[in-house]
Amino acid sequence: MAPISKETDYLVIGAGSGGLASARKASGQFGVRSMIVEAGRLGGTCVNVGCVPKKITFNAAAVAETIHSAKAYGFSVKEEKPFDWTLFKQKRDAYIKRLNGIYERNLANDKVEYVHGWAKLLNRNEVEITADNGSKHTVRAKKILVAVGGEPTMPENIPGAEYGIDSDGFFDIDKLPKKVALVGAGYIAVEFAGMFNALGVETHLFIRHERFLRTFDPMIQDTITAQYEKIGIKLHKESSQTKVEKDPATGKLTIHYKDSEHGEGAKLEDLDHLIWAIGRKPMTKNIGLEEAGVKLDEKGNIVVDDYQNTSVDNIYALGDVCGKVELTPVAIAAGRRLSERLFGGEAFREAHLDYANIPSVVFGHPEVGSIGLTEPQAVEKYGRENLKVYSTSFVALYYAMMDPEDKGPTRYKVICAGPEERVVGMHILGEGSAEILQGFGVAIKMGATKKDLDSCVAIHPTSAEELVTMK
Ligand code: NDP
Repeated sequence: MAPISKETDYLVIGAGSGGLASARKASGQFGVRSMIVEAGRLGGTCVNVGCVPKKITFNAAAVAETIHSAKAYGFSVKEEKPFDWTLFKQKRDAYIKRLNGIYERNLANDKVEYVHGWAKLLNRNEVEITADNGSKHTVRAKKILVAVGGEPTMPENIPGAEYGIDSDGFFDIDKLPKKVALVGAGYIAVEFAGMFNALGVETHLFIRHERFLRTFDPMIQDTITAQYEKIGIKLHKESSQTKVEKDPATGKLTIHYKDSEHGEGAKLEDLDHLIWAIGRKPMTKNIGLEEAGVKLDEKGNIVVDDYQNTSVDNIYALGDVCGKVELTPVAIAAGRRLSERLFGGEAFREAHLDYANIPSVVFGHPEVGSIGLTEPQAVEKYGRENLKVYSTSFVALYYAMMDPEDKGPTRYKVICAGPEERVVGMHILGEGSAEILQGFGVAIKMGATKKDLDSCVAIHPTSAEELVTMK
């Protein structure tokens, strides 16, 4: 191990998306001496147990769906057991390992000192690093960034809950399961449930209410919840779990629960996996935040202002540990803006991330995309009388050749405010929504009005063209 520097200009704790982006910008662009400390794998949640392996798995599910659809297009294909999960997982793991290596090389190229170990704040200018070999080092830093991310929440007070796994554990599954249950109603539960189902796994989704994705526009909630039922995902609505048991001989799990259909005392047996996806929490334990006097909110998130300043001078924080908008590109953008502001001189004095109008998508079945306000939020902000809401619902041309049970929905909503009809919300559901939303996101960020959307000539035949031809 190379000796650890005793001093640095910028010490970043956590080499996830946000920390890496900030440290590389500081060193690579502004020539600042930077050090990054990571106790786990380079790349953090997104690269190792999040976006990247998830999207690869989503792609596998999409291939399974395409094989199924192929018949409708005149192909004769065999669908029985076409998927080797074990082989797929090995290839996915190898790809992630390759990415870890690329990330390490990128750090070296940008001259960021990379230390593998545990960092703990001592005060506003000093960090104690415990290296992998147990040796302790105190490093003085002019500025410190805390970007340690978050971790899945596990339920409390459910006996046997520990027999379940979380989203990290999902990526360790090395055999195609037959039957799984997921608990949760957000991005992760919905994405995982859709993927399992597409890959032929009997999938049960336990939600506490009638619908899931409840932070999304009601049109999205209604449509995707109904679609999940249509494609065969078993939804347990208004449910809660009382106990989880594991058969020591087979390893299979049983969930005891209640829901709106079965009432009290129901049980679901023979589960290969139970996955808790009930939210995430910041990883603020044992990193010296209390010692350094960094303020946390009631949920344990680090409190920051619009410029990522914490309550302590010289200490900054961003990404999931702040719990604001837990998305990789948000952390990356915030990390780059912060380095620009701290080290970029006068030109960047005000640099910071604008958290308004951030597009996001759920890689569900189908994909869902959203930017800006939901309809209820827009009504609250502008008043119903000042809004014009455009909606459309149609069957995409892709499904033209398919039987009714294989056709999926496409639904779009554009919410406009004021006499100039500025677009304040766009909500889309259907094939390709993730790719469609990015470009519209640019337009909305630039302040697009309905007239601007209409002024763009449609690309035909696509689904997205409906967004520029809405009446
Ligand atoms: P979310 O915060 O998105 O959703 C968790 C939901 O689970 C809650 O909103 C709640 O919904 C439900 N829930 C909470 N407690 C329970 C319980 N005890 N039983 C049943 N349901 C419960 O968390 P996720 O873990 O799904 O994802 C974390 C974050 O990661 C996301 O918010 C997102 O920012 C990010 N992410 C982004 C992705 C993307 O961009 N595609 C993909 C994956 C994650 P309700 O109140 O309706 O019950």
